[in-house]
Amino acid sequence: MHPITKAIRIQTERTNEMEHSSPLFLTSSFCFDNSEEMRAAFADESDDNIYSRFSNPSVQEFTDRMCALEGAEAGYATASGMSAIFASFMALLKKGDHLLSCNAIFGSTHTVITKFLPKYGIEYTYVPVDKPEEWEKAIRPNTKMFFVETPTNPGLDIVDLEAASAVAKKHNLIFNVDNCFATPVNQRPIDFGADLVVHSATKWIDGQGRVLGGVIVGKKQLIHDIYLFCRSSGPALSPFNAWVLSKSLETLDVRMERHGNNALQLAKALEGHPKIKWLKYPFLPSHPQHRIALKQMRNGGGIVCFELAGGLQSGRKFLDSLQMLSLTANLGDTKSIASHPASTTHAKLSEQERLAVNITPGLIRISVGLEYAEDIINDVRQALEKC
Ligand SMILES: *Cc1c(COP(=O)(O)O)cnc(C)c1O
Repeated sequence: MHPITKAIRIQTERTNEMEHSSPLFLTSSFCFDNSEEMRAAFADESDDNIYSRFSNPSVQEFTDRMCALEGAEAGYATASGMSAIFASFMALLKKGDHLLSCNAIFGSTHTVITKFLPKYGIEYTYVPVDKPEEWEKAIRPNTKMFFVETPTNPGLDIVDLEAASAVAKKHNLIFNVDNCFATPVNQRPIDFGADLVVHSATKWIDGQGRVLGGVIVGKKQLIHDIYLFCRSSGPALSPFNAWVLSKSLETLDVRMERHGNNALQLAKALEGHPKIKWLKYPFLPSHPQHRIALKQMRNGGGIVCFELAGGLQSGRKFLDSLQMLSLTANLGDTKSIASHPASTTHAKLSEQERLAVNITPGLIRISVGLEYAEDIINDVRQALEKC
């Protein structure tokens, strides 16, 4: 069966009620008939669920569906995208190890790498997304992992997955990819050689702005180590959130197709607008890494970003002039969302620090929703007129 069919059809065994839609296993622990069954479960001699910090059928269904979509051997679901990313670092890196990472990464990932990993003696080096010739030069004898995000949030840079995986393989590094922006229906990093794929399921996977969640999928041995770390440290995904996210996967493919179509229409409608200095969308020929995007992505995804000619003040004016688009700190929703990182999420950084992570003063990120495309385009256009 095709992964998209599996994401709809894989489900927990039916209970005696013969329900069609999967039930929610909202329970913290599971019962045993006798001491022998309980002993066997604790001795890892059976697959019985013990306690929902370790495993839970609703969580397992979501994880199995994600594994099918990504083409992965195994997975573990977590409470948020950040706990997935943090667990992939903490379970697999140790004191004295070195992490290689592209510099354009999600803000909280940047904080974990630069502020927290060094506390545990884990060093890092940032390399530019678009200069593969610099990746190899930054590798040291103690380099253990190569971490990349593609497309990047919020700048929509594209990392060449094939090139990155070749460097990782050559130097025996764990190749770890944040696939949040593309989702597995648009991009499957494992097909290009990734060892691990991490997700914030909070975004497109939920797709309706309801719950937080995360997941790590990949090679069985690596996932086992991550599982052992998580089982003891406790970033487990709530069964309720897993049940919501698992249902969401049944519509992921059709949703992403529509998000991608709407985003492409918006990008085409805005390209060349006099109030816009530059605009980026992976599936527009003007995108600097367009060729790579075509090679590894099935559509360009739901995010469009552009730089307002008027800089910081225009960014604020733009947000204030929107009538329909939401101003909220999320993305990947049915509802279109606008954000201006320089005056909001990244306002505490200095101008220089912002530029180092590619946050320019007039950068606007639009998460394109499922509304009728013309309504989205009209709202963005009228707001542009005012800034
Ligand atoms: C939001 C996001 C995360 C973090 O996910 P949470 O679910 O908010 O913890 C990680 N990576 C990317 C690319 C994101 O957009």
